[in-house]
This record gives sequence, C-alpha cells and structure tokens, in this order.
Amino acid sequence: MHQPNRRNILQAGGIIGAVSGATGRTIARAEDVNYTAPPRHDLPGFVRLIANENPYGPGPKARNAMLNSFDAAHRYAIRTRMSLETLIAKHEEVTTDHIVIGSGSSEVLAMAAIAYGQSGGTVLTAKPTFEMLQPYAKKTGAQIKSIPLDTTFTHDLNAMAGAIDDQTALIYICNPNNPTGTLLKAEQLRDFCRSAPPSVIIIIDEAYLELTHDPAGNSMIDLVRDGLNVIVTRTFSKIHGMAGLRIGYGIAPPEISKKLVQFRTTTPNTIGLHGAMASYIDFDFQTFSKQKINHGKQMVYDICNELNRPYIQSAGNFVCLDTGMPSNDFSKKMREQNILLRGIDEYKHYVRVSIGTIDNMAKFQDAMRLILKN
Ligand code: PLP
Repeated sequence: MHQPNRRNILQAGGIIGAVSGATGRTIARAEDVNYTAPPRHDLPGFVRLIANENPYGPGPKARNAMLNSFDAAHRYAIRTRMSLETLIAKHEEVTTDHIVIGSGSSEVLAMAAIAYGQSGGTVLTAKPTFEMLQPYAKKTGAQIKSIPLDTTFTHDLNAMAGAIDDQTALIYICNPNNPTGTLLKAEQLRDFCRSAPPSVIIIIDEAYLELTHDPAGNSMIDLVRDGLNVIVTRTFSKIHGMAGLRIGYGIAPPEISKKLVQFRTTTPNTIGLHGAMASYIDFDFQTFSKQKINHGKQMVYDICNELNRPYIQSAGNFVCLDTGMPSNDFSKKMREQNILLRGIDEYKHYVRVSIGTIDNMAKFQDAMRLILKN
C-alpha cells in the first residue's frame, strides 16, 4: 500500500504542522483530538435528515481560509484549482494530470456520463444506487442497465460481471453505496475491476470513503495508479461538511482525465477551493467529523434495536431502516414531527436517515418512539 508522503503534502499545501493524509489513512486518533465545533445554526423549523449533509462542517481551518480568500474572489480561480490539484496529487501519489476538479463530484460524474455515454453504449450500474450520472448518460444517448443489489443490499458483482457485454461503455459503482450504506469487500471489487474488459471505463464513486473503517484499504485508487481504466470520484461535501461549496474531484489515468475535463463547464469557485485545500489537511476536523457521525449512526442503530426494527449497517453518514409500514406513510408521520427524511423506491418499507447533530438524532429517536410504539 502506498503511504502518503508527508513532506510532499505539506509542501503542496503550503501549511506547516499538518501530519498526514486526507483519505483517513493516518488521520489523528480520536482520543488525540482536542477540537470543539463552533456553534451551528440549524435550519429553523425542520430537522433535515434528507440529503446526507454533514452538519459539523466546514471545519475551523476551512472557515478561516475561506474568509481570507475573499480578497482573491475578483479573480478566476484557475491557479487555486491547480494548487488543489497539486495537493491531492501529492497525497495520492499520482500526477496532477490524473486529477479532475469539479463543482462537486456530481460534475465529475456528469463529465464521465457525457464523455463515455455519448457513443450510445450501455452504462452498467446497480439499483438502488446514487442516481446522478445515469440521467446525463441517458440524455447523451446511452442505455442504462441496472442490476438489483443482492439480498444483503450489496452490489451483486457476479451478476454485474455477467451483464457486461460488447455494448458496455461505462460501469458505475458507488462504494459505500448510497442509499444502502453497504461497502464491498475491497479485494472482490478489485478483482471485478481487474477482470472487466479493458475497453470499459469503471467509475468508483468514493463519496463516503473517508467514513469507512479503513479508507486507504477500501479505496480503488491503486487501480488508477496501475493504469487501469478506473475513475475514482471523491467529494468535499461529506466528511469535510462543505456540500454548499461544491468542490469534488476525480482521479483517473491522464488520458481519461483529459477526456473528462473537456466537459467541465468552468473552474469551480475561489472560496470553495480555498476551503477545500485547508480542510484536506485539517485532520483533527476530519477525525472529529467521523467520530460525531459514528456516534449519530449508533443512535439510529440503538433506537432500531430498542423498537425491534431491522436496519442496514452503514459505512456512510446515513442509515436505511425498515419502518414496517409504507415509507410514504412513515415519512409523512416524521414530517409531522418536523423531521425530513426520504423513502427508497425499491424497498417499500425502508427509509434513509441522514446523520445530523447529536441533538437532531435525539429528536429522531423521540419521533421513532412516538410513531412506532403506537
Ligand atoms: N456521490 C454520492 C454517492 C453521493 O451520495 C453524492 C451526494 O449525496 C454525490 C456523489 C454528490 O456529491 P457532490 O456534492 O460532491 O456533488
């Protein structure tokens, strides 16, 4: 396994005092972190547990960097984008030619859909999974072939491998999967990617990677380093808590990255880029964020256990649970308690609950008791 080169990261970031990598390879141990989140202003009225946002971000270093970046906001952010590319490239031990920054990883997914869907082949994916790339691919003329998750709510890699044919242009695998939170065994996913025909481009969406128990081991970035036709996508919207700032990235072999950037609409915003650079090396904040999210997830598991409701163990910042009633009815009852969450079309009794603050999750627990005990 590649280890991040600390000196490189620090030089690229231009920041002294940081100690390790942002994918969580060596982020500080929770017990070593002495960090308190600044007060948050929650939305008035509703508790939003609906969009997998992280209520703890942006972290303090990102906030500072963003405030300081206002003086640069009159300029286009091309150099700033290049600085973030350098920072990520050093950390991931790839070249800057491998890195594609987008306005959110959504934009990178859209770039891939357009770049590889326009010749009219098939996009092979799972169901249910994150649906961002698929509509773009459809609009550019591709067909979508969706393979149902298996009985453990996990990608059925055997069935997916069997569905590859000479029409397959692109494979999209979200790992951990949104909305189920399931994580594939890294070796199985690696084998799947290695045995796919070399003509096929495989996207591994790692939006929630940093929240997993072993981000370095779970990432498919090593396949990109080995030159396979793999695009790994990541985001500053989840562990970094910067969803509204719209910064994400892809890492892919240079010939693929070059094709993707042709479809980038524009360079992302100055303020978000500065925030992303600071957050990327704010390991205390990342550890804090992960710890709080794990605490919130445990609160969902606890209430499900208390009320005897099945749930899916999640590697993301959300949990799917079986409400025992049509999810529309349940969501409506939750809304009456001022809590917003979403149902899952494919599993009629399941809802997905995003992890909010501890206070939010306590409200969710109370609402669960109220709705499900009667
Ligand atoms: N990929 C997955 C799996 C997601 O769940 C999300 C957002 O929820 C995204 C990508 C998009 O993230 P971004 O905010 O970077 O566009």
